[in-house]
Amino acid sequence: MRFGGMISTVDIKSMSREECRSFFESVGEPGYRADQVLEWLYGQRVSSYEDMTNLPRLLRAKLAEVAPLRSPEVLAQRVSPSGDTVKYLMGLTDDNAVEAVLMRHDYGLSLCVSSQVGCPMGCAFCASGIGGLVRDLTCGEMIDQMLAASSDAAERLDGMRVSSLVVMGSGEPLLNYDNVIKFIRLVNWDRGFGIGYRHIAISTCGIVPGILRLAGEGMPLTLSVSLHAPDDVTRSSIMKVNAAYPISTLVKACGQYAQITGRRVTYEYALIAGVNDSPAHAERLAGVLRGTLCHVNLIPLNPVPETPYVRPASCVVEAFASALQSRGVEATIRREMGCGIDAACGQLRRRWVSRRGAEEADPG
Ligand code: SAH
Repeated sequence: MRFGGMISTVDIKSMSREECRSFFESVGEPGYRADQVLEWLYGQRVSSYEDMTNLPRLLRAKLAEVAPLRSPEVLAQRVSPSGDTVKYLMGLTDDNAVEAVLMRHDYGLSLCVSSQVGCPMGCAFCASGIGGLVRDLTCGEMIDQMLAASSDAAERLDGMRVSSLVVMGSGEPLLNYDNVIKFIRLVNWDRGFGIGYRHIAISTCGIVPGILRLAGEGMPLTLSVSLHAPDDVTRSSIMKVNAAYPISTLVKACGQYAQITGRRVTYEYALIAGVNDSPAHAERLAGVLRGTLCHVNLIPLNPVPETPYVRPASCVVEAFASALQSRGVEATIRREMGCGIDAACGQLRRRWVSRRGAEEADPG
């Protein structure tokens, strides 16, 4: 990987600041070039080394050769009728695709990024896991989701910046731990995207070792845990992960996370008609969570056509929320942003995969 001679290329967007510094030093350049380049890429969001005007010309040309920049590729884009939600289908170099969703809230723009192509967890109600795991995303592929959404927001939304991030798209982020953490540190860097750790959330189906490891990173991230049931029988019927990390183990780990980071844990609870939405479920859930530093996010299920599950009526959702609140557990009903634009996890990609499959079978 030396300048001159035969070279193999490197992916600069998959480098941490430290890795980038070592890269420059390894090719005989001063280490401070790393932060200069990363600031251009993520702070100024230029797409070519040519535009990095504080770098020597020769270095710019060599970088283009050794560390070529590939612009993020948006294969499809859907805007909700209200204009508040945009979903991007991002093309990857190996012909895979993942989704990212930009949401406009009254507090600003938040981006939901994917961490894997597909997902190994196989939750029964979720579209992302239907084809299993394809592969982990690289840090650069997560960065590309940020770059694509940031450019789009800058153009369409009067230069609004993405001010919060949720790692809640397809995939289980705690099973792609190193790349996700590297990505989050880059996104937090004040000369890059500059998103504060308190404005970044990681959502997990409940990988306990990952939760405990995350607690020790010294990053006050919001931890979102997909609980979806108040007892092991119900949870195991819809989430395979519960066999490895049952509710008592999971809630204990979340308590440790809250204690170490000082951050309240958010429990996600997708309400599924006839499965986890009864008053008895609410009462059991309150029993499990009462007294812990947490917040419950109730999400009426986004029905996935490949699954048998449907959402409860809105009066059931409201009754569930009240039942928790009256027992001293903080709960809110999540505003729905994706309905109508295939924004439920993985649905745009699934449509794309099946269309591509059909085209391959019948290219005419
Ligand atoms: N693997 C991580 C992050 C991705 S899923 C996790 O499990 O948390 C993001 C959230 O969407 C999770 O809470 C997941 O359970 C939820 N989800 C998946 N499919 C859904 C559906 N059809 N309707 C509502 N929520 C869903």
